[in-house]
Amino acid sequence: MDHRGVLRSAAAIAIVLSQFATAAVASPRTEDAVGTVLNPDQINAAFDVDYLFGLTPITQTASITGNESVDERIRTVAEQRGYVKRPEAAGELVDVDGFRLQPNAAAAWSELKAAANAEGIELTLTSGFRTTATQASIFNRRLNGTSDTQLDTLLATTAPPGYSKHHTGFTIDLRSGPYALHAFAESTAYEWLSANNWANSKAHGWLPSYPDGVINVGPDPEPWEFVWVGTTNIICAAFTPSSAKPFCDDEHPANSALTWMQNHDQIFGCTAVRFCPQQPLSRGEAALMLWRLHGRQIPEINHPYRDVIAGTGVDLAVRWLYERTVLNGTSATTYHPDLNLSRGHFLVMLWRSAGRPVGTVPYPFNDPAQDRYVETAAAWAAELGLVDGVGYRNLAPRVAITRHDAALILYRYLMLIPTLS
Ligand SMILES: [Zn+2]
Repeated sequence: MDHRGVLRSAAAIAIVLSQFATAAVASPRTEDAVGTVLNPDQINAAFDVDYLFGLTPITQTASITGNESVDERIRTVAEQRGYVKRPEAAGELVDVDGFRLQPNAAAAWSELKAAANAEGIELTLTSGFRTTATQASIFNRRLNGTSDTQLDTLLATTAPPGYSKHHTGFTIDLRSGPYALHAFAESTAYEWLSANNWANSKAHGWLPSYPDGVINVGPDPEPWEFVWVGTTNIICAAFTPSSAKPFCDDEHPANSALTWMQNHDQIFGCTAVRFCPQQPLSRGEAALMLWRLHGRQIPEINHPYRDVIAGTGVDLAVRWLYERTVLNGTSATTYHPDLNLSRGHFLVMLWRSAGRPVGTVPYPFNDPAQDRYVETAAAWAAELGLVDGVGYRNLAPRVAITRHDAALILYRYLMLIPTLS
């Protein structure tokens, strides 16, 4: 290496060290999120309530003015602008800086503020969670006329109750010193938040709520409003699956059991890019996984279940498992493929598909098994190291098994069979 080469290397090391100093706490997931470049439409789509937890399903329409025909008109004009109904926070919220937020959003807000402060940048929270009643009073205070034009003007800045992202507890409004509302876009805080495709925001799971460049999403662009979606949803918003990383929501993609299982045709995503590890496994999905575990064998007889659609993969799987007496219906003529499967019944199905082996150790969990089949299956699975307990060594046999836990149990089982691994 010549002299200039040495200098270049020294400079490169200095840059690496300085990056390391500022990014010392960044996890691989954080780096992936920061490195995920999103266009405005992808930013908008990343706030998908199907993949955020702690929300109530939208069941009723919030009252706005109390006059039902006026309310109906407001909703129509709002939905023409692209407003969509938003669910309300379901669980306990956390008090932070005078407002309430979802626990993970509150922690992420404190991190974001600390990171900004460390760079000498001031960020102040000006709004967090709002009930529909609070949003109704804001909306009605600003309502001064109910012609379509007057409504459209108000809706450019103010969501009607039931349509505000603030209901979710994942949404914040910000200011920095005197820079508030539209002026916030002129602040150094906004420059810091938005630089390099929102790198500093994404590092803590935040995205702009209504960024420039999206159309028909409700209000006009709002530089001051941000939503917490978490690093996983940022990564998932622009993700191309590969055999090295088939799922955007696998939080531990290195040496991942999920990756191995996907590449060996043992599991399947809930979408083209997600595995949905925390979602419950349905009875139909369980049948498909166990059928794949045994090599997708062609069944010879039919099953008696009216609610399994003939000719589908689930149908083949249920036929084969029925033939092998691995599964039980929910009645003589129903299987209910969409219902969740319990942890206990999943172990029973696996144990039966393995040929009902008899273990050598007693049932090791503290909580009682549901019945003697679950007891035998769980004892066998625990002896082989297939199943982790819940909490202090409980089986929790009646709790729905998650897609992650089911895949992990099947992975461990496969690893015990050398010819398949
Ligand atoms: Zn807001």
